[in-house]
Amino acid sequence: MAKNVVVVGAQWGDEGKGKIVDWLTEQVAGVVRFNGGHNAGHTLVINGQKTILRLIPSGIMHATSTCYLGNGVVFCPEAFFREVDELIQIGVPNVEQRLRVSLNASLIMPYHVALDKAREAAAGKNKIGTTGRGIGPAYEDKVARRTVRVADLFNPERFEERVREAMKYHNFVLKEYLKAEPLDVDAVVAEVLGYAERLKPMVCDVTEILNERINAGDQFLFEGAQGSMLDIDHGTYPYVTSSNTVAGAACAGAGVGPDRLNYVLGITKAYCTRVGEGPFPTELHCAMGEHLRDKGNEYGAVTGRPRRCGWFDGAALRRAVQINGLTGLAIMKLDVLDGMETIKLGIGYKFKGEFIQSMPSGAADVAECEAVYEEFPGWEGTTYGVKRWEDLPETAQKYLQRLSEVAGCPIAVVSTGPDRDQTILYTNPFA
Ligand code: IMP
Repeated sequence: MAKNVVVVGAQWGDEGKGKIVDWLTEQVAGVVRFNGGHNAGHTLVINGQKTILRLIPSGIMHATSTCYLGNGVVFCPEAFFREVDELIQIGVPNVEQRLRVSLNASLIMPYHVALDKAREAAAGKNKIGTTGRGIGPAYEDKVARRTVRVADLFNPERFEERVREAMKYHNFVLKEYLKAEPLDVDAVVAEVLGYAERLKPMVCDVTEILNERINAGDQFLFEGAQGSMLDIDHGTYPYVTSSNTVAGAACAGAGVGPDRLNYVLGITKAYCTRVGEGPFPTELHCAMGEHLRDKGNEYGAVTGRPRRCGWFDGAALRRAVQINGLTGLAIMKLDVLDGMETIKLGIGYKFKGEFIQSMPSGAADVAECEAVYEEFPGWEGTTYGVKRWEDLPETAQKYLQRLSEVAGCPIAVVSTGPDRDQTILYTNPFA
């Protein structure tokens, strides 16, 4: 029977979803993005060649896969075509022919970027540490019912009218409240409308197509962006992104019913990282944190910012298992822990004088949590490139088994290196 699988980040993003999506794509007819925008950074290494995707689903690297951007995505035409051109340049075949963009997706406009940057600058030490891509302001406009959608690009009059109306408000805020430069309305209208013609062949009713194809027996992969702890409702609010990043968002953000989704794969690193501000209970402020950053090459794929690094946080993952309904875990970058004398595993927190097993929601409570650890001896030799569970050092197996027990979710996949084939498949989500 055909199956549809959702892949979500189970930490603060940057877990390595791109590699897993790319690798599972062989089994599907198409890959669907359902949330976020070009704030995501999915790094892929195929035959030693590194590619970073921000908005386009990682499935594009497979010549036969169709990639969909659902209505839940915030869509920046300029960033989209920059990425399309990069892919064409490195020889990815039929890129434009294999992309489908929802008519209902909200546009990220130049004023959203200006607002994002001006607000962060004005917030000083209270900044969120956003990617500066206009994501938050674009989602705000969607909920405020003042957004312009992809469909509006093909009705220039309506487009211009809506942009003029929105910009009255945004330019006032930029100038009067944020003391930043307002934007020229005519220039914004002309710039964004300029993308309409090239975009037109890719635009469609994504919901209709997905439902029809699922009915016909095709399998799809739904590719989440960011991570569960950055979810607007369930994460470390307000230090979060502006969309729902949990698996349930695949339904609303692509227009498919929950009964169409059969397996939720949560991606987690064997340790923990975070970019931007906000609480991080297992963060390491010592040489060990720097070691993880250097060995794991933990620098933001989108902004190049150094990532904050720490031990694996079992309480955060336990929460992620709940809010996503995770069926299985993919544990990434195990090899980064090679050669350590001792490895610590966060198994819960001390919170208001009690031991709790799962992360509370909201930054204020998470900031009060003190991580509780179990210690494991490190392993000798390397796990780099190992392809079979039984070839892992016994101590590595024990560490992973305990991690899975603490999270309350079985392991489906272990990744032991950046390349596609450096992977241990324990359970195939599509089987
Ligand atoms: P925004 O999504 O640009 O508004 O940023 C809000 C927060 O989410 C910031 O802390 C960002 O660093 C973080 N964030 C957004 N996208 C990603 C991602 O793909 N990986 C990791 N962090 C992200």
